[in-house]
Amino acid sequence: MQVETVNLTQKDRKAVLAQMIEKGGGNLTKCIQCGACASVCPVAITGLPLYCKRLFRFLQTGHLEEILDDASSWACVACNRCTEICPRGVDPFHVVFAFRRIQAQELAIPASATTSLMNFYTTGHAVYGDASELRQKVGLDPVPPSTLKYPEALKELQTLLDESPMAELGLF
Ligand code: SF4
Ligand code: SF4
Repeated sequence: MQVETVNLTQKDRKAVLAQMIEKGGGNLTKCIQCGACASVCPVAITGLPLYCKRLFRFLQTGHLEEILDDASSWACVACNRCTEICPRGVDPFHVVFAFRRIQAQELAIPASATTSLMNFYTTGHAVYGDASELRQKVGLDPVPPSTLKYPEALKELQTLLDESPMAELGLF
C-alpha cells in the first residue's frame, strides 16, 4: 500500500468522523493510540498493513480515500480480543466494522467477501461447499438441517436481505 502525503483540513477530518459515527464507529474519537488492541489482534499478527490501531490513526486524521481499497479490514475475524483489552472502551471491533460498511457502500470489497455475500444469499451459508459426500461417509444426512434443507427458511432470509442495505450493492 502506497500512501501519499495529503494536506487535510479540520473539515476533512470532521467529514470522515461523521461517516464513521453514521456507520456505528463513533468511539473512534476515544482512541489514544496506545496499541493494546494491536498486541492481540490476529490481523496485526499476520502482518497486514491496516490492523486496528493503524486503521484508526488514518481515520482519526481524515485519511479515508487513501485506505478505502485496502483489504486488511476484511481479515478481521470478530474475535473481540481488542474489545476486551482496550483501556478506553473504544470497542475497536465495531470501529473496524463501521469502516467495512463504508468500504461496502463504496464497493471496495475484496472478491472473497463478495463471494461470501452471494453464497449467503443463494444458500444461507456465507462459506459454502458441497459436503454431501463427506456427510454421508460419516453417517449424516447429505443435506444439513439448515436453509439448505428448508427452502421456506431460505426464502425468508432472502426477503430480509432484499430489504437490507446490502441489497443496494447489487450483488443479488
Ligand atoms: S475483532 Fe478484529 S480487530 Fe479486534 S482483535 Fe479480533 S481480528 Fe483484530
Ligand atoms: S486499545 Fe483502544 S485506545 Fe488503544 S489503540 Fe486500540 S482502540 Fe485505541
